[in-house]
Amino acid sequence: MLTSTVDFGNLTIDIQQTANEVVYKFVGEVDEHFRQKDVPRVKKANITFVLEDIATFNSCGIREWIYLVRDISELGALKFTKCSVAMIDQINMVPDSLGKGTVDSFFAPYYCNCGGEVNRLINVGDCLPLLLRKNAPEFKCEECGHKLEFDALEESYFLFAEAALPEAS
Ligand SMILES: [Zn+2]
Repeated sequence: MLTSTVDFGNLTIDIQQTANEVVYKFVGEVDEHFRQKDVPRVKKANITFVLEDIATFNSCGIREWIYLVRDISELGALKFTKCSVAMIDQINMVPDSLGKGTVDSFFAPYYCNCGGEVNRLINVGDCLPLLLRKNAPEFKCEECGHKLEFDALEESYFLFAEAALPEAS
């Protein structure tokens, strides 16, 4: 396996290549230090972005991000996995943030009346019809066993679903 790292100060990108796939793991903030031109382009059938540790985007960062996604999705099938809440908020505000990519899995915010707040990972393939109706999947609180409440507006949070989900058409 071929690995490399690009460091932009507030953002680190780890890149791992296997025969058919390249995985870019983003950790940190997409801000004015991010230079998309310095991200190595790797042409593979499958291109995966791991986005659970993307914290924030600012306006300079998002402009660079859109160029990166546009460029990279020309090289192979681009998949967004484990999207953080910040990443989903960004896709909902600026759909170009996803380019031609598809969302494979993402985190969604929940809370329980017992006091717990938790982000739960949702696999798109497991609950596609639900997401297209803009309904949050149900989870139980690990502390008290009650049903978790969704902690955002479903209509807004799952907005990305129609455009972004694989095989949604
Ligand atoms: Zn609870």
